Amino acid sequence: MPSAKSTPAIRYRIVPIEPQAHLFEVTLRIAAPDPAGQVVSLPAWIPGSYLIRDFARHVVAIAASGNGRHVALEKLDKHTWRAAPCRHALEVRYRVYAWDLSVRGAHLDNTHGFFNGTSVFLRVHGQDDQPCRVRISRPAGVRYRGWRVATSLPGAGAPEFGFGDYQAQDYDELIDHPVEMGDFTLSSFDAGGIRHDIAVTGRHDADLKRLGADLRAICATQTRFFEPRSRHAPMSRYLFLVTAVGEGYGGLEHRASTALLCARNDLPHAGMKGVPASYRKLLGLASHEYFHSWNVKRIKPQVFAPYDLDKENYTRMLWVFEGFTSYYDDLMLLRSGVIALEDYLSVLGETIGNVLRAPGRKLQSVAESSFDAWSRYYRQDENSPNAIVSYYTKGALVALALDLTIRQRSAGKHSLDDVMRGNWRRYGRDFARDLAGLEEGGFPAEVAAATGLDLRRQIRAWTEGTGDLPLARLLAGAGVKLALSSATKGGARLGARLVSRPGGLEIATAYSAGPAESAGLAGGDLIIAANGLRLDLTTLQTMLDRRRDGESLRLHAFRRDELIEAEVVLAAPPPSEVKLIVDDRAGAPAKRLRGSWLGTPRGK
Ligand SMILES: [Zn+2]
Repeated sequence: MPSAKSTPAIRYRIVPIEPQAHLFEVTLRIAAPDPAGQVVSLPAWIPGSYLIRDFARHVVAIAASGNGRHVALEKLDKHTWRAAPCRHALEVRYRVYAWDLSVRGAHLDNTHGFFNGTSVFLRVHGQDDQPCRVRISRPAGVRYRGWRVATSLPGAGAPEFGFGDYQAQDYDELIDHPVEMGDFTLSSFDAGGIRHDIAVTGRHDADLKRLGADLRAICATQTRFFEPRSRHAPMSRYLFLVTAVGEGYGGLEHRASTALLCARNDLPHAGMKGVPASYRKLLGLASHEYFHSWNVKRIKPQVFAPYDLDKENYTRMLWVFEGFTSYYDDLMLLRSGVIALEDYLSVLGETIGNVLRAPGRKLQSVAESSFDAWSRYYRQDENSPNAIVSYYTKGALVALALDLTIRQRSAGKHSLDDVMRGNWRRYGRDFARDLAGLEEGGFPAEVAAATGLDLRRQIRAWTEGTGDLPLARLLAGAGVKLALSSATKGGARLGARLVSRPGGLEIATAYSAGPAESAGLAGGDLIIAANGLRLDLTTLQTMLDRRRDGESLRLHAFRRDELIEAEVVLAAPPPSEVKLIVDDRAGAPAKRLRGSWLGTPRGK
């Protein structure tokens, strides 16, 4: 249906109608509904988070009208409605309950509002590619007078950071710009030729100047990475939406923004020296989501171009899109000078250790883990470490192995960076115009195209196989020693991951064939005593430190409400503590390779 540019055929209005009841009211006006009966639906999932969430379950009331008259709505399935045939413009009005304080949903109370388009905007079937307009309205009442709006949605009359009209070229764009409203704090910086804004919601005492300076360095480094010539970011503006809470962690990528959830104490404070681990983790998260602006938002797996929002979209390549992004997120902190080399090597060592600690890596490949993300990685339980591998962490190590291999085989002429830039040129730059994406199984060909190397055999073994990656050898070739030892902290020698709970220690996971499992203990059991003494993590550690492997410990635990007793024979777990050490005695080629791999960090 052609429509004049000034009056899009699809218009939404969203009002935080009852903030105290967590209700948004949305009115959707369709100028030219399908004469056979217009179908509308809410997405079953939000791109970037691979789990069926059925957002339509939060629609608490819905009705339709045309020309002032009621139009019947028939519900076709859990998230789809069809309006009776209507010869006039169709208006669908509905209320959405918003009480999910996560980066994936919608949240509203009298302190702020947040929503993703996937939670609130019905998709108009058959008109997905039509431009649309959104009016974001201020809640009624004096207490909301100071509220502002933060979103990367292009304005269509709304003042900057104000309520009013915004627009999107199509539905895909509409749902890719989350919206925050409230009395957030704002700061901004320029990088990659564009303005970046940081909006922080929630109580906090953050040093936004420090945060802005560090993010600026990271964003500029990433932009230079993908666009070494133009050094221009692929969007015209970028927004970091940060929600600070007591405890929390999460991020979701979008084409021109990211929603981040963090603990308020992870934010930098005035006078802070260095980079504490908690802040480094937050910077790593921001770096990760920003890297996604290229890798997954614009360079996509073919099955995501376009997304099918009604059901699972299966790809065996999340190791490329999440794993490689995880490799580069920390590496970019180093390359931008935000963290020092020792910090980077310690983080990388932790990632290697995390992968080695999970017995599931022997049962599942990263390609399988990608495919099963919907039912396994996103739905973890006490057995997950025994049964699955993370396409994030092992995917990051595949990137590392590939990067070092390419550097060694090409004598420093090429690197994984060239592959990423090749993917960007081939699939990413034209994202808006051409929906082709990286085809399943197409990655080795991209490596060959960018580097001239045939690494099909290695990539197949590392991504379709379950063997450990040859990291010690590859790192040695880059002048870095990998030292491996057994973990001794926590419940390591019990073969269990333990979590402190009131009254005892809960077994989060009893590792496959480990001492706890062999003694009959299981995930969910609450250990209350060891050798007849009440215990917490500290007293347990002391007991373990005073005993040798092969000796036993008598544990009392509750399984549900039943007391059980187990004699656990202590044993050192397989080595999984990893230290990466710069080898000063490495040969000149290894040192050269290390220099080109880890850049010339300025350090801090
Ligand atoms: Zn990610």
